[in-house]
Amino acid sequence: MTNDAASAAYQSALSVIESVEPTVAGAIRSELADQRASLKLIASENYASPAVLLTMGTWLSDKYAEGTIGHRFYAGCRNIDTVEQAAADHARELFGAPHAYVQPHSGIDANLVAFWSILAQRIEAPALAEKGVKHVNDLTPEDWETLRKALGNQRALGMSLDAGGHLTHGFRPNISGKMFEQSSYGTDAETGLLDYAEVRRSAQEFRPLVLIAGYSAYPRKINFATMREIADEVGATLMVDMAHFAGLVAGKVFTGDFDPVPHAHVTTTTTHKSLRGPRGGLVLCQPEYADSVDRGCPMVLGGPLGHVMAAKAVALAEARQPSFQTYAQNVASNAVTLADGLMKRGARLVTGGTENHLVLIDVSTFGLTGRQAESALLDSGIVTNRNAIPRDPNGAWYTSGVRIGTPALTSRGFGAAEFDRVAELIVDVLTGTQPTAAPSGGVSKAKYAIADGLAAKTHDAAAELLDANPLYPGLEVS
Ligand code: PLP
Repeated sequence: MTNDAASAAYQSALSVIESVEPTVAGAIRSELADQRASLKLIASENYASPAVLLTMGTWLSDKYAEGTIGHRFYAGCRNIDTVEQAAADHARELFGAPHAYVQPHSGIDANLVAFWSILAQRIEAPALAEKGVKHVNDLTPEDWETLRKALGNQRALGMSLDAGGHLTHGFRPNISGKMFEQSSYGTDAETGLLDYAEVRRSAQEFRPLVLIAGYSAYPRKINFATMREIADEVGATLMVDMAHFAGLVAGKVFTGDFDPVPHAHVTTTTTHKSLRGPRGGLVLCQPEYADSVDRGCPMVLGGPLGHVMAAKAVALAEARQPSFQTYAQNVASNAVTLADGLMKRGARLVTGGTENHLVLIDVSTFGLTGRQAESALLDSGIVTNRNAIPRDPNGAWYTSGVRIGTPALTSRGFGAAEFDRVAELIVDVLTGTQPTAAPSGGVSKAKYAIADGLAAKTHDAAAELLDANPLYPGLEVS
């Protein structure tokens, strides 16, 4: 699609929206302007292509299509079948997976599908077989009560939150923490690296039904072959949540032991982070989990979003192009440049570097909390997010870390020179920011002061980088 065609499409769409609700048209225009004008370093965000975005604004949204391809609970689903099949085929081909389920509306939903599928396969199916029935409705009330208790009494072992794990990996604020008894493994106190011997020890002691691997804020790759060995030793199902790094798997940066798909029983992901698709999720699995994964809707999902599955198909088709591999390589090499640029200017990074798309800065060495650093950077035009670091003394709210990632700015065309400059700007802001006194005495964990003129100077420097690497070049929306 040419830029002229995309500009015309958006221009027309906005005039249609404007005629009904101008506030929304205004917010859409304003969001484009904001995204164009900010140095977006949030590790979980990206920019989808106009083709992906335009696909979502269609009448595929208007169809109910509960069920699976060719087996729907509603009539007239042939076009939804077409787009769901296309997305599933692309996902299978791209990741080399035996089965793909593309209905999940988000990463959390994909993880819920995975959990229920594992419970169905490992706990429910054997219980039904033992009783000689096909469906839970055919169990006696007593047998159902026993099964219900068994389903709700399983164990999951995942990475601890402060080591970079995700809430959906069995933590209390998420339903997974209420479904499962949870235990977690951390990282080595000295190196910050995942200690596989500790994972093995924890798994052998805890005997989980599900061993979860994957993260939101761990800056290294994981050896999934080793994780599978550990899972096999204790009879656990290995579930990998590659929400953050799916783009690096798709782009063949993570291969062999570091590619989760051949090793995990079930792999989940979001589609909107490093994969650069629409907001959504998907599940890949080995054949024995396919039937239960496909029961995601209506088990834990609302009706599938036809327009978003179509956009997933477009994004996955894009990710199968050779240019996506170049993009993924650049995401990873830019992260190394960013990490080196930060460290050579005195920043301390968790694990001393990166092997993926993200870097975790320990901002306590600048005398700041993550909250102060995040805010000072934002004031200076640099968008990041605060994040706990392992054994964080400031907890999950103030934190001692800032997480930054390269997927979005790499999509904009930033390379090594730009990321080195970004590192310089970040260190300048962190060095030029001081905590101020807390009203109750001592030093505030939230309040700070930036050296005079530094925020404005950094804004200008960021604008220079952004202007040289425009977002959606040639796309004109007035
Ligand atoms: N899993 C991981 C590892 C994540 O980092 C996230 C989001 O940050 C999710 C799952 C949830 O994704 P979503 O926000 O699409 O539900």
